Amino acid sequence: MQQSLTSRILADREQSSRPTGEWRRLMPKDSALVFNIQHYSLHDGPGIRTIVFLKGCPLRCPWCSNPESQRFGPEVSYVADKCIAAMGCDRCALACPSAVTPNIPSGSPSQGELSAKPTEGVNPPNSTTSPITLNRPTLDRLDLTELTSFAKSCPSKALTLEGKPMTVDEVLDVVERDEVFFDRSGGGLTVSGGEPLAHRTFLTNLLAGAHERGITTAIETCGYAPYASLASAAEHLDTILFDIKSMDSSVHREWTGFGNERILDNFSRLCVDHPEMPKLVRTPVIPGFNDSREDIAAIIDFLHGLGGRDANITYQPLKYHRFGEGKYHALGREYPMGSVKLSDDLFNEIRDDVLASGLAADALYHDDDRLPKT
Ligand code: SF4
Repeated sequence: MQQSLTSRILADREQSSRPTGEWRRLMPKDSALVFNIQHYSLHDGPGIRTIVFLKGCPLRCPWCSNPESQRFGPEVSYVADKCIAAMGCDRCALACPSAVTPNIPSGSPSQGELSAKPTEGVNPPNSTTSPITLNRPTLDRLDLTELTSFAKSCPSKALTLEGKPMTVDEVLDVVERDEVFFDRSGGGLTVSGGEPLAHRTFLTNLLAGAHERGITTAIETCGYAPYASLASAAEHLDTILFDIKSMDSSVHREWTGFGNERILDNFSRLCVDHPEMPKLVRTPVIPGFNDSREDIAAIIDFLHGLGGRDANITYQPLKYHRFGEGKYHALGREYPMGSVKLSDDLFNEIRDDVLASGLAADALYHDDDRLPKT
């Protein structure tokens, strides 16, 4: 791995693993931190799905497109383009003075003059100067109530609280509103993250509660958890989307912080214990990490060794993208992957190999312009 990439990854891993304040003490009983509920998703399990994103992941993949999912505690993201500090807004500074440093040039309206009304685009999209700087270490020490008040103080939604406590019933009440779409499409609930298996009791209760309400279930997992957590979720799962990123444990450790042994072992045991469960294995194809036909062939061999189609395994490589880059900046972090790109030709070759393997997921046929649509 290049020296500069290594140092960016290590710096980001340190930042994204900073401890947060006393948030657990203030969490309602039987709740978890949810940072997003996404409706009408077509790519995260069968049919139309509602995705519930739980906060916190043990891995630190530097290409993660949801960096707000990685820390277990709540945090605040800040989008400078929405900030109206240049028009005199100082609501966040009033809410927590030690958390905000204004960077307002002289000649701006005096602080507090504005009857703070949400205004988008005040700061040009490519503005290099942020109107304020957040003091992250101060924010990290706030408890959940204080952090919530701080984020809510912003009238323009430049500040967002990432991670809201929700109980199982609160989540299911939201998910159930999409039932008509589930019924028509064969869809349901997908729990994602972060890592859903890191919330064992909450996840098991959520999946069981969904089944009680007649909603089918899926999870998206990186597979890094005690097998007991996977086994208890699997009792209430209709489908699993399981990431296998690399068969090389040392490379896996270097890039994500952990080796792959537990992940591979968990998936192997799942195939034995639940051969009937549909298992969509996915691999994000990442430049410099696993972007070779040999890397993907090793994963395909592993899946064939576990029974392949006979164990209801399908496989989908996912092309590297940079959709999460802006979110890193909103969290005060540098995007660790820099400017790397994945070659289209290489990804097409990898996709051809997967299509030839007999394990290709349906989505791969739909994605492939060179094949007739099924
Ligand atoms: S409250 Fe929001 S809009 Fe006002 S200065 Fe703070 S971040 Fe900017």
